[in-house]
Amino acid sequence: STKAQSSLTIGLIPADGIGKEVIPAARQVLEALPSDLMPAKIQFEDLDAGFELFQKTGTALPEETIQALKGHCDGALFGAVSSPSHKVAGYSSPIVGLRKKLDLYANVRPVLSAAGAKTASGKTRPIDMLIIRENTECLYIKDEELLTDKDGHKYAVAKRKITEFASKRAGQMAFTMALQRDAMRREVTLGERIWKHKPKVTIVHKSNVLSITDGLWRETVREVYESNSEFVKSVDIEEQLVDSMVYRMFREPEAFDVIVAPNMYGDIISDGAAALVGSLGLVPSANVGENFAVGEPVHGSAPDIAGKNIANPIAAIRSAAMLLENKGYNAAASAVYRAADKVLASGKYLTPDLGGNAKTTEVTEAVCREL
Ligand code: ATP
Ligand code: MG
Repeated sequence: STKAQSSLTIGLIPADGIGKEVIPAARQVLEALPSDLMPAKIQFEDLDAGFELFQKTGTALPEETIQALKGHCDGALFGAVSSPSHKVAGYSSPIVGLRKKLDLYANVRPVLSAAGAKTASGKTRPIDMLIIRENTECLYIKDEELLTDKDGHKYAVAKRKITEFASKRAGQMAFTMALQRDAMRREVTLGERIWKHKPKVTIVHKSNVLSITDGLWRETVREVYESNSEFVKSVDIEEQLVDSMVYRMFREPEAFDVIVAPNMYGDIISDGAAALVGSLGLVPSANVGENFAVGEPVHGSAPDIAGKNIANPIAAIRSAAMLLENKGYNAAASAVYRAADKVLASGKYLTPDLGGNAKTTEVTEAVCREL
């Protein structure tokens, strides 16, 4: 996170499908923030990217977009990209490109219960955890090989890379965010605090099996903790093997605060966690690097409902709040989270994915009125 400045420039990249509906919704909410909550003036810049753009122009992530983001934007909001069902020559996903170009090395996913939403189990449970997924390595280096042994039998091998460098910065981010969340809960005592304890970071690994790779991950994250006296004083740590992590997360999600995991485990845990709170249309994320963050709803471009004004805008609105939080505007971020919660809790403005019949624009306007 960075210190709040007096003006903030946000690049808006709606990209494809419902991205074109939920990103304008998020913008409208940011524009509705009163100045006592949001001291900085927000400037928006519309930027192009996406599969539809690729089909029109042959490029999915134009150089101008990258230059604008690197040059004068403080952060960005990304909608969604359509994934073509078959491999298209020359096309690669623009969000994956952005993560690389801007070195957004962690994917941060808050999993937050909402009073008005039904969960997978039908019950509403108080959940407020933050999953930090390392975003650059592990099995995602995609170093795979299909081979044949001397008897002609096929076998396949995948390499998994864990570096001290990436583990260190993921760890650093986890402890820093644990403190930041705690400060935000204290500073802005809005609503009921779900996590009432000392900040806690849970390190996920499987070093009983992968003692070298996960061993390096676990030791490096622990070292980050032990070498910082503020972390040691103000944050608790625990470890969970990834399998028991999943088991415990479903049994007692309220037992977790911040969770930090290597890429592949983080991917699996965070989709599982999204199921605990209901619709995909509720779950935000942020891609975070040293000086830059890109808010991005977890859902895709949802071609089945695109252009009908029925997409749930809450995930995008919450992603905008994450961006504010990352930039140090805690009061504004909290207000947006709370306004979204109130609209959900009232049950009056729910999109079809949550069993209602409200339009995207009606939900957005309701959130703006709450602000
Ligand atoms: P993509 O290839 O872009 O991921 P997809 O077809 O997988 O597209 P997703 O966006 O991943 O679509 O959505 C999966 C399902 O969840 C779809 O049926 C979609 O309509 C629904 N969905 C996703 N996001 C939302 C939302 N914001 N509001 C309502 N429904 C949503
Ligand atoms: Mg999808």
